[in-house]
Amino acid sequence: MNSETLLNVKNLSVEYQTDDLTVKAVNNVNLSIGKKQTLGLVGETGAGKTTLALSILRLLPKGIGNVTGGTVEFEGRNLLDVKEGDMLAYRGKQISMIFQDPMTSLNPVIPVGKQVAEVLKLHNDGHMTKEQIEARVDEMFRLVGIPPERKSEYPHQFSGGMKQRVVIAMALSCEPELLIADEPTTALDVTIQAQVLNMMNELKKKLGTSMILITHDLGIVSQNCEKVAVMYAGSIIESGTAEEIFTKDEHHPYTVGLFGSIPDLNKVTDRLSPIDGLMPDPMDLPDGCVFHPRCPKCMEICKTKVPETVSLGGEHLVKCHLFGG
Ligand code: SF4
Repeated sequence: MNSETLLNVKNLSVEYQTDDLTVKAVNNVNLSIGKKQTLGLVGETGAGKTTLALSILRLLPKGIGNVTGGTVEFEGRNLLDVKEGDMLAYRGKQISMIFQDPMTSLNPVIPVGKQVAEVLKLHNDGHMTKEQIEARVDEMFRLVGIPPERKSEYPHQFSGGMKQRVVIAMALSCEPELLIADEPTTALDVTIQAQVLNMMNELKKKLGTSMILITHDLGIVSQNCEKVAVMYAGSIIESGTAEEIFTKDEHHPYTVGLFGSIPDLNKVTDRLSPIDGLMPDPMDLPDGCVFHPRCPKCMEICKTKVPETVSLGGEHLVKCHLFGG
């Protein structure tokens, strides 16, 4: 495993603030990703995964979303200290993001090829000629499996899977060092999902890109990631290498619950075991361990004391009173 660190998020906290409400969306999160690695960020809807991704790129809604603590070091530089005008050198060029629904990333009235060309124009400070840009657009279309002749067509002329391929071509056209893919295949059917993920993995290898793959699907993580971080109610409650998460027996009760909700074709069971209860309201997080109202192993201490993050050896970290001390 490559250990050279590309991104290091330390003690990051994010709040959304309205006139009379404060929502703690991300609480004291630590995670790191090495060059050429893929990190799977897993958790249910509302866990804070997208907020964490948006804060890395400083794309939180202005005036509402605020980083209240921590650092986001990219290649050793804290992005939270970079002037807004200088963030253009990072966004799209060094760090790209793919969103869940390709229609939110594509302009419906501009041909898809022109949209990929725009990204290249914006991030190359006039260093590429028109011909070079066109050649690069064609190359990107070929890489994502779309015939370049289709670049003059509009988004509505493409299927969901093909639109997502265009978005991936846009995101990778400047060969970013880090790609953040936020549920990139959730809007697609299962067969297309597998095709798009395979294609992303191949491109990642070819271009040497690192990736944060945000998903609620542990099956996708097991097949695509070297590192895993499990997020719950704004906190990372377990993290480690994919091998540690998928082969070791010791896990946070929430991760055990996530595993229990994956179908296993080798075991005959009548039903899957869903995790009881709902994610807590981020405006009213429970005291102690945030998972305690849903935890089948809850002890008295869990209701009042926030657990420390403890090491279970190697890179495996767990935030739970069942371990350590
Ligand atoms: Fe369950 Fe307690 Fe561990 Fe929280 S700290 S996950 S409530 S056992």
